[in-house]
Amino acid sequence: MLTAETVDRIVRFDGNELPVTSLYAHVDADPGHREDLHARVTSMLDEVYPLAKNDSVDHEARLSLRADVDRIREALAQERWKPGAVAIFACSGRNLYEEVPLPRRVRDQAVVDAMPHVRPMLTVLDEYHRACVVVVDKASARLWEIYQDELREVGKVRDRVLRKPNFAAWRVEQRVRNKADELSKRHYRNVVERLEQLFRAKGFDLLIVGGHEYEVPAFIDFLPKDLRALVAGTFSVDPAEPVLAEVRANADAILQSYESAQERQLVSDTLAKVASGGLAVAGLDSCLWAGSIAAIQTLLVMDGVVVPGVVCDQSGWLARSGDTCPLCGNPTRPSPDIVDELAQEVIAEGGSVKHISDDERLAEPLTAASIRFPLPPVPAS
Ligand SMILES: [Zn+2]
Repeated sequence: MLTAETVDRIVRFDGNELPVTSLYAHVDADPGHREDLHARVTSMLDEVYPLAKNDSVDHEARLSLRADVDRIREALAQERWKPGAVAIFACSGRNLYEEVPLPRRVRDQAVVDAMPHVRPMLTVLDEYHRACVVVVDKASARLWEIYQDELREVGKVRDRVLRKPNFAAWRVEQRVRNKADELSKRHYRNVVERLEQLFRAKGFDLLIVGGHEYEVPAFIDFLPKDLRALVAGTFSVDPAEPVLAEVRANADAILQSYESAQERQLVSDTLAKVASGGLAVAGLDSCLWAGSIAAIQTLLVMDGVVVPGVVCDQSGWLARSGDTCPLCGNPTRPSPDIVDELAQEVIAEGGSVKHISDDERLAEPLTAASIRFPLPPVPAS
């Protein structure tokens, strides 16, 4: 499972005078296309390899680079990468080798630089929430991390609870009840403390709370404001014996509705900006033009849409059709999926991409985008 710690380690990594190799490759879902993967990665490594033999590069750096290339070649031969994409970060001389599976495709690229090239990875991962699920009652709590369809236990809290009071006198019982309240408060405080630690360490951005229907609201009330703001939803489950499949199904459903609400909000905001003449555009043609001139801040894409088009590799011009690029006059290259080319271009230019799975308002425009500056008129092709 990909953890926040791994991503963090990569993002903060510094080769300290040694080069870092970053390689991204699209991994086709169809195993019949794996030969193509082999060819693509090999050709990227062939471009890196001359650097490892270049005399102007420091000896230690060359050895490290050569080891990076060998290690990636070995990994390629094992054919273990999952469909989507793989991002590899290597700096053998400093003990870095990480393979990060990405659930969406990214543009193939190999970069050798002083720092890992992390942006495409972060942009893809940004689309997925990392949520913490806590199932809590008055004396115990169990905590899980849920990320990209994987559920993993990350902690347990068990506190003292008063046994059933067996006192006759009302006054004593009252005291016992107060004591019990005090203990459950102390327990909630311990759970909150654990949650705060986990949120810091693991980069969670959402919290999901399960437990007895009559206990969950009291726990939510107990959360500090910043944690309460991250609650994506609650569910009812027996906290004494939470069934994993049940926790998972509830958490998945909550995440899904949270995400779809978030998507709808994003679409609303962007379309409202278009309507009011603000910095946003709707429609594939406008977005392609905006993408051609690196104007896109956030691109919204109807998930699963594939449209053929053309690309000019010289100027970065993107369009649905046209043999000649109107910007530089060079011949264009046909692309089976211009929407994907656009998304990759936006990532390369520092923007973000959100795939919208559930909003009919994007069905006709296919794409919409918030932009960084007003667009110049589209050149006649
Ligand atoms: Zn051009």
